[in-house]
Amino acid sequence: MASPKNKKLYLLNNKCLICGSKKLSKYLSLEIQAPANSYLTKAQLNKKEFKAPLEVYFCHNCNLTQLLHIVDRSHIYSDYAYFSSTSPMLVKHFEEYAKEVFTRFPSQSKQLVVDIGSNDGVLLKPFKRLGARVLGIDPAKNIAKIANEQGIETIADFFGKDKVENLIKKYGKAGIITSNNTLAHTDALHNIFEGVKEFLDEKGVFVFEVQYLLDLLTHNEFDNIYHEHICFHAITPLTYLLKMYRMKIIDIIHTDTHGGGIMVFATHSRSSLTIAKAVNKFLENEKRFGLDKLSTYKKFAKRPPIVKKQLTNMLLDLKKKGKKIVAYGASAKATTLLQYCDIGPDVIDYITDSASSKQGKFTPGTHIPIVAPDVLKIKTPDFIIITAWNYADNIMENEKWFKEKGGKFIIPIPEPKIV
Ligand SMILES: [Zn+2]
Repeated sequence: MASPKNKKLYLLNNKCLICGSKKLSKYLSLEIQAPANSYLTKAQLNKKEFKAPLEVYFCHNCNLTQLLHIVDRSHIYSDYAYFSSTSPMLVKHFEEYAKEVFTRFPSQSKQLVVDIGSNDGVLLKPFKRLGARVLGIDPAKNIAKIANEQGIETIADFFGKDKVENLIKKYGKAGIITSNNTLAHTDALHNIFEGVKEFLDEKGVFVFEVQYLLDLLTHNEFDNIYHEHICFHAITPLTYLLKMYRMKIIDIIHTDTHGGGIMVFATHSRSSLTIAKAVNKFLENEKRFGLDKLSTYKKFAKRPPIVKKQLTNMLLDLKKKGKKIVAYGASAKATTLLQYCDIGPDVIDYITDSASSKQGKFTPGTHIPIVAPDVLKIKTPDFIIITAWNYADNIMENEKWFKEKGGKFIIPIPEPKIV
């Protein structure tokens, strides 16, 4: 863990990541937090933890919602061990994703599909099975190695405009470029978009999936805000960004990944591919929603403090009655929720997670021990807070026995309820 006296561990931006405007307004503060994936070992518990402000800003010019405190990557991905293919739901999602893209654009897919932030090849594997020529790019060396061993050619590096010349020399231009969730995790949007513009064939299609800001605002998913998520995307600011690279959006699909996402299809502006009706519908809906008005965001910002109050009151009341409470899913979301609501090991005995890399460690900022889900059957609680609420239905189905024994679940978002 870093020394707290070193303030350079995060950078404070003063202009918008898309348009460069300085007309930015803070609309939500989730206080000072430890980065979401910085799980602690027992030895690290006594040391001072690195924390940074978690504040959300609105750009009055292009309407991008963004963080301005950019935490140094070394604090975020240093112990990053997320293997997408270990999640059956993600595997299924990306199989459908590959099928959708391949069916729409078979010749482009056969030319070359490049996935930026390809992880262990979770998307490229089904593309390859369909007959596409594939190439992965991912900065995590350990994960890229696994992908290569499994037959998905993967370059262990960050993608950016300076890499494209060599890539084109070696592989030719890309018919399809995909990127999933990476565009929310970067403060180098321009470097990526400039690279994509160069790398993409003139008939090519750039397909990317990101969480959708409107879903976050509508369903009060403030726990999706953490230091790793720098940008919160919507179609209006994305259109602005693509225009800067003479690109346009030709279609959008609303998905249910991570509490609500959008799969965006973009091409060069001069492409003859037709623009689907969905594009204007999204833009009109965002306008109607008030995505371009600060007042919309200020209204949203009133909701997280209410969750904090309701959830802490609920838990304290249960504690007074001598109830045992645990949490389910030590995800990044859980880190934000627990830190913001100031819920620690005095309230929650433990938090379960199926990732063995997290078990035996402690949650950032709140220091709750992380254990394997089987512990639920040994040290059975009275209440389980489903911090991974986006999988609530699956979790409650898998842990049916708990309800049959008289246990109850708490779903914290959009507002806390006992089920
Ligand atoms: Zn802007």
